[in-house]
Amino acid sequence: MNSPFSISVSKTSSVPSGSIFIDDMDANRRVDKLLDNRSKIDKEIYQIQSECNHKTKTLRMLPEGSFHEVRWVCEDCRKKLGWPQKHELDVFMGTENLKPRRLQ
Ligand SMILES: [Zn+2]
Repeated sequence: MNSPFSISVSKTSSVPSGSIFIDDMDANRRVDKLLDNRSKIDKEIYQIQSECNHKTKTLRMLPEGSFHEVRWVCEDCRKKLGWPQKHELDVFMGTENLKPRRLQ
């Protein structure tokens, strides 16, 4: 099959020098912007949670460091409202499909 077009692949044999270019200034600016955004987000969440009446609360598993804990959480604003009673915790553990904890 004769194709009128010839495809030529030109390989650039020039390998860039071994220095790795890291744009520190750009990283700084990006992190500053993200931190600024986070403080705004935290402020907004605080504002919403302080205005919420916490009418609907549910028990939820929340990541706390390297483990999880069960807390009453407001359904509307996601604020942690407090610790469940023993019997509430039992009900929660019994009704929820929890992954078995691996003890080491
Ligand atoms: Zn709330």
